Amino acid sequence: MAKVLLVLYPDPIDGYPPVYARDSLPVIETYPNGQTLPTPEAIDFTPGELLGSVSGELGLRKFLEDAGHTLVVTSDKEGTDSEFERELVDADVVISQPFWPAYLTPERIAKAKNLTLAVTAGIGSDHVDLASAIERGITVAEVTYSNSIGVAEHTVMQVLALVRDFVPQYKIVVEGGWNIADAVKRSYDLEGMDVGIFAAGRIGRAVIERLAPFGVKLHYNDRYRLPAEVEAQYNLTFHEDIRSLVKEVDVLTVHAPLTDETKGLLDDELLGTMRRGSYIVNPARGAIADRDAIVRALESGQLAGYAGDVWFPQPAPADHPWRTMPHHAMTPHTSGTSLNGQARYAAGTREILENYFAGRPLRPEYLIVEGGSYAGTGAHSYAKKD
Ligand code: NDP
Repeated sequence: MAKVLLVLYPDPIDGYPPVYARDSLPVIETYPNGQTLPTPEAIDFTPGELLGSVSGELGLRKFLEDAGHTLVVTSDKEGTDSEFERELVDADVVISQPFWPAYLTPERIAKAKNLTLAVTAGIGSDHVDLASAIERGITVAEVTYSNSIGVAEHTVMQVLALVRDFVPQYKIVVEGGWNIADAVKRSYDLEGMDVGIFAAGRIGRAVIERLAPFGVKLHYNDRYRLPAEVEAQYNLTFHEDIRSLVKEVDVLTVHAPLTDETKGLLDDELLGTMRRGSYIVNPARGAIADRDAIVRALESGQLAGYAGDVWFPQPAPADHPWRTMPHHAMTPHTSGTSLNGQARYAAGTREILENYFAGRPLRPEYLIVEGGSYAGTGAHSYAKKD
């Protein structure tokens, strides 16, 4: 029987919600590329409940305990004295969400002698040291597509928030003011702008589709070009690399995974080649940006705004400079954990566990690492391009 260690974000400060803002979630039949939604044999939660916090337990307790497994749930994940690190030593399975990542460093993986499976309840497994997982033969899986559309929606919201300068206008209202000139002195229309999408995978592609009706000129870069008919449909300009892309746009959105190639990519040099007053929205991973270069570019006016919901580390410390830098519209890491997203990745996590414990193969689209090498989605997105 397995010990499953589940690391989740803490419950709301005023307690686990007794009621919700809405009574149900819309039913989504398939993902845009035809991939089926998670297909667990059963679920023990009501979609729309808060599942990603400690009391929600991703709806897994009954299923695991009925099968004789042990479930440990904690939000205490930092440092060697944390409950996570104490429980890790004999855990067989670790599950966490990118919003509250249980960082599986090489040192922690070395301590976790029994670990055979690391599941990301969500998308993005860079909090797991994948090289160590490959070396140890640990399977790494994530719930591909579960929250991609939510992230794309959040991206569009933040593009508009920056360009139209929503945050100061909202503050004026809340503070009892009516200073129209202050409210609009940095407010522009998105219409007609050049928008660049860095990485046109599931999220990037959904951003392209959602921004096209705004009358913008769309550009993109990816390691592989989109089909010609897609480029024609959205009038996309392809750029061979990010350097060429950023020079030609007013707004850049970032949707690549965090890899050795993308880490620190948004640095002083790259930002210096953008049009003065550009905007960046990065809901991919905080470490793709050089933290202090972003602050400098906002302070100098090279960037007119920066937004996103990903930070490094997470949770961001109280004195993280992105909390106080000018002209930002940051959120905590929330775009992929709407109540809709939670229902899908909780079901997907259950599907992964059902198959894993039954010795059945996991869906290739959920696999990042298996059997000592990148596999499935991981072989495509995380491995270096041939
Ligand atoms: P996909 O795997 O569908 O797309 C990633 C894309 O990035 C692929 O098209 C891949 O190219 C491309 N890519 C990889 N490396 C590079 C590179 N060096 N240069 C250019 N393109 C590159 O993933 P998703 O769209 O589902 O998710 C993207 C990322 O978003 C995740 O890795 C995760 O970090 C983040 N994310 C954030 C969430 C949030 O809540 N904020 C939630 C979900 C995801 P190709 O495969 O064509 O080689």
